[in-house]
Amino acid sequence: MDNRIYEILSGLGEAQKDVPLSTMTTLRIGGVSAVVFYPETLVGLDLAIRFLNRENIPFKLIGKGSDILASDERYEGVIIRLDKHFHTVYFCENEMISEAGSSIVGLANQAMKQGLSGLEFASGIPGTLGGGIFMNAGAYKSSFAAIVKEVLVYRNGGFDWLSNEECEFSYRETVFGKHPDWIIVAARMELEPKDPAEISKLMEDRRQRRIASQPLEYPSCGSVFRNPEGMNAWQLIDGIGYRGKKHGGATVSSKHCNFIVNEDHATAAEYMELVNEIIDKVKEKYDVDLVTEMEKFNWK
Ligand SMILES: Cc1cc2nc3c(=O)[nH]c(=O)nc-3n(C[C@H](O)[C@H](O)[C@H](O)COP(=O)(O)OP(=O)(O)OC[C@H]3O[C@@H](n4cnc5c(N)ncnc54)[C@H](O)[C@@H]3O)c2cc1C
Repeated sequence: MDNRIYEILSGLGEAQKDVPLSTMTTLRIGGVSAVVFYPETLVGLDLAIRFLNRENIPFKLIGKGSDILASDERYEGVIIRLDKHFHTVYFCENEMISEAGSSIVGLANQAMKQGLSGLEFASGIPGTLGGGIFMNAGAYKSSFAAIVKEVLVYRNGGFDWLSNEECEFSYRETVFGKHPDWIIVAARMELEPKDPAEISKLMEDRRQRRIASQPLEYPSCGSVFRNPEGMNAWQLIDGIGYRGKKHGGATVSSKHCNFIVNEDHATAAEYMELVNEIIDKVKEKYDVDLVTEMEKFNWK
């Protein structure tokens, strides 16, 4: 990609050249991205998107990269990240309003300190608010759908507030998946007053449950597969005998079969081969089509 792109984006915010995606994803996997852009203001974001669209340059939003398997290939486009400059949080009565680059874990902690309940489910989800809303992240039978009132989205060169209904929340899906060029900029969430000590206790119990049940000591992207209707993906993977199965540096966690961890410098190709093997074997044995929860990015 020509240097001019980098120079123009440097004038509209912070830009970096040749950044490995392995440093921007929790799996620690992925080839180099030509440019990474951190807008500092909404105007800078708007100008950058107009410029990229005019020049036909691909771009991709990344939050904390905690739900992404990037290929080993170079990305000849621009990664846009909001986590550096878009994390202001406001409280207004029972509402928490936050910019999209805020860490979900941080938001859960802030809500707890304000004595506001509703985000406890998300206190162990290592992404940004934008990424969480994009895929309606959830746990413990709750998800962003339950607390989001409105989402501020940048689309078609302007800003609009979308209502909860307009976000079309369902299991790990939203309207945003259908419009990868829309950018979630902020959200209003409605919470409920509760004793901070009670909220804190619930969050701590859940933290302990995660530590006990998830291989948090290795790079991962959380659950690799969605749970098929009425079933647990981990049980199907266990059922085909893949607990602990290794392929190159990628390993199906012995602690939690729906986590495939990057145990030893796995390439994206190795990781994907293991994912595909599991899909094939589960289909063969159970006639069930497993669908990935993590998103493949920059694959031909
Ligand atoms: C240890 C671990 C545990 C996890 N536990 C859970 C869990 O309990 N429940 C759960 O649901 N998930 C879980 N995850 C997966 C992941 O953390 C969530 O999906 C999270 O919401 C992803 O947020 P992110 O900011 O990292 O998004 P990314 O992975 O960076 O991006 C995901 C998608 O969102 C899009 N996106 C990101 N920001 C924006 C934006 N501002 N505007 C528009 N699109 C955007 C990206 O383009 C991409 O398509 C876990 C992951 C790990 C590593």
